Amino acid sequence: MAAEIAEPVETGRYDDDVEELDVIIIGAGNLGLYQLYLIKRMGLSVRAYDDAGGVGGTWYWNRYPGARFDSESESYGYSFSPELTQEWDWKEHFSGQPENERYFNYVADKFDLRDNIVLNTRVVAATYDESEARWEIELDDGRRSRAQFVVAAVGILSAHYSPDFPGIDDFEGESFHTSRWPREPVDLRGKRVAVIGAGASGVQVCQTIAAEVSQLTVYQRTPHYLVPLRNGPVTPEEQRQLKDRAAEIHRLCREVSPVGFMYGPDPRSALDYSKEERWKVYEELWTRPGFAKFLMNFSDLWTEDAAADDYSEFVREKIRERVHDPKVAEKLTPRTYRFGARRVPCEDNYYEIFNRNNVELVSVLDTPIERITQKGILTSDGEREFDVIIYATGFDSITGSLTRMDIRGVDGQRLADKWTEGFRTLLGMQTNGFPNLFIAMASSFCNYTVCAEMVAEWNANCIEFVRNRNFRSIHPHKEAEDRWMQHVRDAASQGVAKDDVSSWFKGSNIPGKASSTPLMYFGSLQAYRVELLNAARTFEEFILE
Ligand code: NAP
Repeated sequence: MAAEIAEPVETGRYDDDVEELDVIIIGAGNLGLYQLYLIKRMGLSVRAYDDAGGVGGTWYWNRYPGARFDSESESYGYSFSPELTQEWDWKEHFSGQPENERYFNYVADKFDLRDNIVLNTRVVAATYDESEARWEIELDDGRRSRAQFVVAAVGILSAHYSPDFPGIDDFEGESFHTSRWPREPVDLRGKRVAVIGAGASGVQVCQTIAAEVSQLTVYQRTPHYLVPLRNGPVTPEEQRQLKDRAAEIHRLCREVSPVGFMYGPDPRSALDYSKEERWKVYEELWTRPGFAKFLMNFSDLWTEDAAADDYSEFVREKIRERVHDPKVAEKLTPRTYRFGARRVPCEDNYYEIFNRNNVELVSVLDTPIERITQKGILTSDGEREFDVIIYATGFDSITGSLTRMDIRGVDGQRLADKWTEGFRTLLGMQTNGFPNLFIAMASSFCNYTVCAEMVAEWNANCIEFVRNRNFRSIHPHKEAEDRWMQHVRDAASQGVAKDDVSSWFKGSNIPGKASSTPLMYFGSLQAYRVELLNAARTFEEFILE
């Protein structure tokens, strides 16, 4: 049943120099594929371009050792097709990259999407022609296409980021970024490996390779709060139950969980209970897989300072229990912000790797990286030599993949210039001065596919509305953007969201990037959905021409 991973072939066709289309989609990942399916179903001419050699976006690029979902597989899979849900068997509760890539290939085949996808092709520029109300895009091979609408389904975490360490090109060994891992297997057995970065990607790599490399050195800056994933194979009985419950699972994700997962929070307040009672609840939930241990927890862990402090201390205690050397445990323990203030990564045996003789933790807060050398990495306490350096240093999130293209709207305004002071949109969907450009970011803070489906559906409805009413273009009023951005700031001003810690949620992980306004919306998914529905009811917050 599982689809083979397609070889990197170009599947799009060109008959003329400039192809005229109704809709151009940039990206053939999770959101882009579903968008393509919806637009094709509307009978419009459409093409999706992707610089990857295959479909799947994140799950094409992030093929580093140990890459896997940390949302339950059945909740990360699409919900739009009950037939697809019934046909596809997730093999693990938290599925790994190879299987996830196969899933997106299976979707592309099942819904006959390949003929509309052009792979190995990067969109370098997009220019809006006001007189025609059409976009013209330029591809990296110089070809061009035109369309009334552009959906930039470029992903929230696709523009990878490598710090500009001095000497980075001097290194004589091999270097990899987790998000640009080669298709060919990388043999790390018996090698001296450095991993820079200890977020979700770094953690997955380190715990996967620690036992096979001769020496692993982890360069960590800010410690994360990590929670056990507790993955496992899906047994035939579980498979049957998950399929029987599929509709309910998808309803829970969309309509009940504030963050798009298949379980909702406990409505009780942590502060109504004694410490002993609270920690008993935390302990019971700690045995559950994935995010359930905190998403099914007291609902005020994120919003009430005292509750957030208490749960953070509980998780710190868990770190101390697992790491033998108290000095190493202390370095791994977050002290300067609360649990949930940044995206919480999951792990299997991450803390235990620091009990091994071949693993060293270097806190770059104590001994900063001074430069990359020919042989390895020089920190303020000396040079360590390596065969391989792995950069697990994250992403220029949300805006990065858009501002790296030369996108020009009304009066030739560059999108990158518009956002110099910060991200400005209405609903994360559109931005004033860039008519008919759908940003398609799924930027509500939640399980990605759940929000991605909502966003793709909203875009399709909006395109249908504009076309049916014979409008040429749509983009939001500036005042509507002001309203939305204030709402986004307000939603991020409570509880742990206000903690001052570097995070891709805010853009503060990238030196020099504007980070005063969050890039993500921290209201509930249901609140976001209501905003989307209201916006599409009258479109009064939009300029329609
Ligand atoms: P990340 O969470 O942003 O982590 C990047 C790491 O690099 C951090 O430890 C950061 O330190 C470090 N770093 C950056 N610049 C540095 C510098 N100059 N010197 C030293 N260290 C530096 O990126 P990520 O791990 O790729 O994860 C990003 C997001 O992708 C996750 O939050 C998650 O949403 C998603 N993801 C999901 C999965 C999954 O679902 N299973 C797996 C991987 C990633 P600081 O913390 O101090 O900034």
